[in-house]
Amino acid sequence: MSRIELDRDRCEGHGLCEEIAPEIYRLDDDAELELLVDEVPPELLAKAEAGARVCPVAALRVLS
Ligand code: SF4
Repeated sequence: MSRIELDRDRCEGHGLCEEIAPEIYRLDDDAELELLVDEVPPELLAKAEAGARVCPVAALRVLS
């Protein structure tokens, strides 16, 4: 199964990833991004990848 790599130093908390895939990405009250899954289930893979693609600072990578 695929995993998501988050570069916390890059993430600026814009939340675009969360808008696209709230099942996977969530900003907490301090605008810190939380990953809601350790491994991406197949049915959410396309959304996980779409969320990673829209990140303006390329802080997300989906590793398969
Ligand atoms: S879109 Fe990128 S910068 Fe914005 S919260 Fe998600 S990972 Fe962080």
